[in-house]
Amino acid sequence: MPVETLSLAERLARQIEAGGPISVAHYMAEANAYYYGGRDPLGVAGDFITAPEISQMFGELVGLWLADVWNRSGRKANPLYVELGPGRGTLAADALRAMQMAALAPKTHFVETSQVLRSKQKANVPHAQWHDDLDSLPSEGPILAVANEFFDALPVRQMVATPKGWRERVVIRALSGDSGLFEPMAGYRSMDSAVPEAFRHAPDGAILESSPASATVAYALALRIAKQGGAAIIVDYGYEGPALGDTLQAVRGHKAASPFASPGESDLTAHVDFTMIGNMARQAGLTVLGPVGQGQWLTALGIKQRAALLAQRHPERAEEIEIARSRLTAPDQMGTLFKAMAFVHPDWASAEGFKG
Ligand code: SAH
Repeated sequence: MPVETLSLAERLARQIEAGGPISVAHYMAEANAYYYGGRDPLGVAGDFITAPEISQMFGELVGLWLADVWNRSGRKANPLYVELGPGRGTLAADALRAMQMAALAPKTHFVETSQVLRSKQKANVPHAQWHDDLDSLPSEGPILAVANEFFDALPVRQMVATPKGWRERVVIRALSGDSGLFEPMAGYRSMDSAVPEAFRHAPDGAILESSPASATVAYALALRIAKQGGAAIIVDYGYEGPALGDTLQAVRGHKAASPFASPGESDLTAHVDFTMIGNMARQAGLTVLGPVGQGQWLTALGIKQRAALLAQRHPERAEEIEIARSRLTAPDQMGTLFKAMAFVHPDWASAEGFKG
């Protein structure tokens, strides 16, 4: 059978047969490329739901935040709205509408690899231009960038502590097949030198993640802002590393699944290390704000007032609006686990929502 017509699981199985175990990062990259390439995973009928799909307030506040920084930084000419992994284009549509009200009408550029999602985005934002990565973005004009639940989809490497030292965590075909098609194990080569001194003597089974792919994209974005001016807002679920822990997870039909059971059929994510993301921006000479909880950030930007205004205009939807506000901001919902971090050009005005 020609390789292209094989299922992803069969292709991965052949790769492993021919070349030995593959890294968790390789596995996650292949699984997510296949997963996002072939479907729209968002919404009630899909696998998961994101902040912009919960309420228009999220995208509107992102748009107002960008317009505010741009306005207070001298309204530089030819601004570019750049979104990484725009999903259905819902956030962009809400943000662009809010920016328009603030007299900002940037050109729209989407970095998106999924053809299925590109066509959804085109329906919501017809005038956008699409890119496979940041390299082909215009080289002039300040960048007003957004990445919501983008970095969590990029592959992580995992190191695992064993009695013989640290090893890369790799993926093999499952021996029994009872719990799925694949399973993780510790690789053969020593990885002690890839692990910071502080973690050398961690207990057996401890896992340390890193995301070279996220570092590369964060640095490329930061360099663009350093060269062209601008600011970025990054929102995701994450932590302030370095820290031990296995955060790789799979979601299918709004329920947790095993990440190794059936590659390409569930959404694989890992928590984002905001310390690393911030360091990329600092290295490029940018000012970094946050991370702060998504709840704190949205509240500082006035989500309460916005919800009240919306409810006043649409009294029949008042309850739904209040539920959405609570989902986005409550500490036991998305308010604390999800975090916001800003990159700002050093000559630009400081951005709102990160004090206190
Ligand atoms: N930001 C949207 C969608 C989040 S899902 C929202 O909040 O609703 C992750 C998005 O990132 C999808 O659009 C997916 O296709 C895209 N994506 C995943 N990996 C990518 C990659 N390597 N390059 C570009 N886009 C990617």
